Amino acid sequence: MAKRVLVSGGAGYIGSHVTVELIAAGYDVVVADNMSNCDMTCFEGVKKITGRDDIPFELTDCCDAAAVDRLFTDYQIDAVIHFAAYKAVGESVAEPIMYYRNNLVSFLNILESAKNHGGCNVLFSSSATVYGEAEDLPVTEQTPRLPATSPYGNTKQICEDILRDVVKATAINDGTDGRGPVKGIALRYFNPIGAHPSALIGELPRGVPNNLVPFITQTAIGKRECLNIFGNDYPTEDGTCLRDYIDIVDLAKAHVAAVSRMIDGKMKEGYEIFNIGTGRPVSVYELVTTFEKVNGVKLAYRFAPRRPGDVVAIWADTSLANEELGWKATRSVEDTLASAWAWEKHLAEK
Ligand code: UDP
Repeated sequence: MAKRVLVSGGAGYIGSHVTVELIAAGYDVVVADNMSNCDMTCFEGVKKITGRDDIPFELTDCCDAAAVDRLFTDYQIDAVIHFAAYKAVGESVAEPIMYYRNNLVSFLNILESAKNHGGCNVLFSSSATVYGEAEDLPVTEQTPRLPATSPYGNTKQICEDILRDVVKATAINDGTDGRGPVKGIALRYFNPIGAHPSALIGELPRGVPNNLVPFITQTAIGKRECLNIFGNDYPTEDGTCLRDYIDIVDLAKAHVAAVSRMIDGKMKEGYEIFNIGTGRPVSVYELVTTFEKVNGVKLAYRFAPRRPGDVVAIWADTSLANEELGWKATRSVEDTLASAWAWEKHLAEK
């Protein structure tokens, strides 16, 4: 029988791409989402891409412990991928209580049910934000985490620690009273961008986008007047920040590799961490000009003051993921930027 993966937040940007790749790899998927930050566009897209009309969808708020527990009662779940979280840095500074409550309580509920239903494999979506302004680049998983500069970033660090501690504490569980061990992987994403090649699923930011690529595509389509490039006086070659932009489909495939590693009993430790990036730094200016070139569009942009809180440069050493997960980013930044543009045009036609 196919193994089943619960994808919390599975109707969102990353969750929908991961659902597609899990199904392509032969897994059964249960999508749980409270739809607080998305509509059904991506879930409908997932059904079209996979040709599967029968993917179970559960309208569930993961902050509701009883509702989460029902999922584990109703389905035999072999692994959970937990995406259900708020993700806007600025909003988290303004609304810390909302961020801590949502991001921590939802994860605690997942872990508690995972433990009480015989144990489970749990994949947590973490972020390169945990490294802050690292001194040595590229960063490895051993690079020390720096104190978070936003409540959002702090929730990523705290959830990593919670997962580590729960793995440790539950390792002794032998099934008595249904309690089993929890195993965990945290994937630290760098900057996920782009959309599925079908242009049926992609990022759907609400309101004014915070992230660079949605802002670029919305400017190109005419929804925004002009892109602000935040800072051109950084100590980099062209003065703009350096990031590691990882294609969303490549990122989704890393999840399949990590879930298979857990389910197939290939983990070397009960709790593991992997960087998920390309290993290649790209500047904001380079990304903007590549977007223009690849898609044959002229983008209105201007140089603006630095954005508070931005680090100058961060990119991943991905050797561990390459070796242990047998995974590597393959899609070029050109193809990824073409997919982001195709998705924006698809949205405009709807
Ligand atoms: N950025 C920009 N203009 C924008 C949005 C972002 O110049 O409208 C820059 C930002 O300063 C950073 C890079 O693009 O250097 C990536 O920002 P994003 O918010 O996408 O991701 P982050 O790296 O902050 O997680």
